[in-house]
Amino acid sequence: MLRRVLLVDDEAAMRSALKRQLRATEYEVLVAGSGKEALDILAATEVQVVVSDVRMPEMTGDVLMTRIKHQYPEVVGILLTGYAELNAVIRVLNEGAVFRFLQKPWEPEALLDCLHDAFVCWQEKQQVNDQHTYLENHEHALLETDAEGRTLYVNQKAVRLLNINEDISGAPLEAVLPMLRPEQLLYLASGEQRQLEVQDKTNGQMLRVSSQALHSERRMFRVEKLFELDTLAIPELLSRQELLYQLDRLLLSSGEPVTAIYLDINGFRRFNDSLGYQQADRLLAMIAAELLKAKPEGASLGRMSGDEFALFIAGGFSLADICGQLEAMLLPFHDLIHFAGRELHVAFRVGYARSPVDGQDADELLRNAQVAANTASRGGRRTVVCYQQHMNTHDSEFVSLQSDLYRSLERDQLFVLYQPKVSMPDGRIAGAEALIRWEHGTRGVISPSVFIPMAEENGLIDPIGDWVLAAASAQKRIWEAQQVPDFVLSVNLSGRQLEDDALLDRVRDLIQQNALHASQIELEITETFLMQDISHSLELLRGLKALGVRLAIDDFGTGYSSLNYLHQLPVDTLKIDRSFVTGLGQNHEAFELVKNIIHLSHDMGKRVVAEGVETREQLDILTGLQCDEIQGFFFSPPVSADSFRELLENQPLIMLDVTTEGAVPARI
Ligand code: C2E
Ligand code: CA
Ligand code: CA
Repeated sequence: MLRRVLLVDDEAAMRSALKRQLRATEYEVLVAGSGKEALDILAATEVQVVVSDVRMPEMTGDVLMTRIKHQYPEVVGILLTGYAELNAVIRVLNEGAVFRFLQKPWEPEALLDCLHDAFVCWQEKQQVNDQHTYLENHEHALLETDAEGRTLYVNQKAVRLLNINEDISGAPLEAVLPMLRPEQLLYLASGEQRQLEVQDKTNGQMLRVSSQALHSERRMFRVEKLFELDTLAIPELLSRQELLYQLDRLLLSSGEPVTAIYLDINGFRRFNDSLGYQQADRLLAMIAAELLKAKPEGASLGRMSGDEFALFIAGGFSLADICGQLEAMLLPFHDLIHFAGRELHVAFRVGYARSPVDGQDADELLRNAQVAANTASRGGRRTVVCYQQHMNTHDSEFVSLQSDLYRSLERDQLFVLYQPKVSMPDGRIAGAEALIRWEHGTRGVISPSVFIPMAEENGLIDPIGDWVLAAASAQKRIWEAQQVPDFVLSVNLSGRQLEDDALLDRVRDLIQQNALHASQIELEITETFLMQDISHSLELLRGLKALGVRLAIDDFGTGYSSLNYLHQLPVDTLKIDRSFVTGLGQNHEAFELVKNIIHLSHDMGKRVVAEGVETREQLDILTGLQCDEIQGFFFSPPVSADSFRELLENQPLIMLDVTTEGAVPARI
């Protein structure tokens, strides 16, 4: 490398003398007669050291050095001075604008020594510069400390990541990395290389801090942001990424199987709608806090997305074990939750998967637990499901079925069957339930228990629900025109339809269009839906009631045992769920429960319908308990509109005092 010195002096004799002294050296010498000329040369040529006289007209040497320091910080300056200029020299020395000064007259040796040192100084500056460029361009936040942990340097990445907004040179490490506890700082400051992960609670980041001892007792700290933390502002609740990350680490380190459990809140959309997003977030936070409190020991819980949580725990548990642990964890949700002046019922669909069989890494394991959760029923019976491989293969079938469902309406593949509700004890048809069917082109008739949940998931329930309402209303009109005996026609409403503000108008329009008697239309709403948010349900039911239609609670007994709330709800009918009817001849609890439901409903002036009555024994017990209406295969399965008309014309369906062996055979 060429070593260039620029000599600056206004006196030509001095310039020549200096030049002479440097003639036999390795340095290339340039000269300038003034400060201005020196700056011009610096602008055009690379120079490492500038030697300048102090006393010069226009621009003095000290002023020149200050300018050079600002414009060319890497250049090293030497001043030549007499006694009179000492003050000016001290000033620039203190500023760091000058490396050294030589007092006139100087020994030639002294000048050469001084120049040598100046070039060494330039080289060192160069190295520091290189290092700083390296550090500044580094992909991670970096900071350097001295042996006492005082900060010497931070790069721009660190300034941004750690949100540093003041000069921190010399500041102790704990001021720059306040998220670290004293023992963590001690740990990082010891040994050749150290690393740990910490959570920065101020901004919800997960950080990895590593430290390395450098020569001359310095230490370099590297800070990496691993991921953002959850938004519910609960430190113990892991974010999705964090959960995946920790689960992966457990899977790598743990020799035993790991169980991942996925929890999906049933119909949380509804809470979003009725509470608004902000409140719904608070509800989520409250739910998360409850889950955290009651989670199994050693389990980590995180939020996967809006209303979905997941936890994992070392060990491969049996379904019984999982159910036991979950029961304890979900216990707080057995009761209604008091929130924002409302009483809400929160229920979950749960799926789980176990490593290594159901997944090798976090992503796969959690995805399969989620797949299992999605197959769990919303109704309350099969709510915990273990992942099985066929679930994923079913997935593609599911997808194709789903796309077929989109076309079912335009292809006119949907139709409605009607199942009679027989009034007791006279055997007359008091009502009919409209039950939808899907005639799939290649798969035959598909059950609504398969495609209604699908339609709820993908939003098709809105048009499909509309279609059923319209089809049933039109059919009712036809029957009325045929002057068949009066009866109440029931239509099922799904939760999602009930969330639709347009529902009231829709029902009103259909009744008007078909010139129906509103009191001969009944809407069936599931208990699980009604109990989710009582005050919201109340409002909705009152609106529907104002149209004059009848209302029934469907699947009664499967959701939250809501007898206490029943009197508040403006419903006309309770439908006892089939599971209790099935249990009637078999266990005493079912009998007691059905008896209580019937008594209580009658006390409140509501009618009771028993669903799924298949045997004579069930019928007899129910009649004995004064159940008002019977629906089930015992009398008739759901049948076509024409067959239903025949049933209407052949009333009564059963003469209890005459028949002992069974009812009139069902006809389709
Ligand atoms: P659900 O409202 O509880 O309807 C009663 C179900 O029990 C019907 O099943 C009916 O066929 C069946 N059932 C009636 N009597 C008996 C019996 O004696 N034994 C047995 N084992 N089953 C009996 P289906 O028609 O398959 O409907 C299943 C569910 O699909 C319904 O349960 C309802 O939740 C839903 N669904 C049906 N149609 C509609 C609809 O138009 N809209 C909506 N949103 N949901 C519907
Ligand atoms: Ca129903
Ligand atoms: Ca039902």
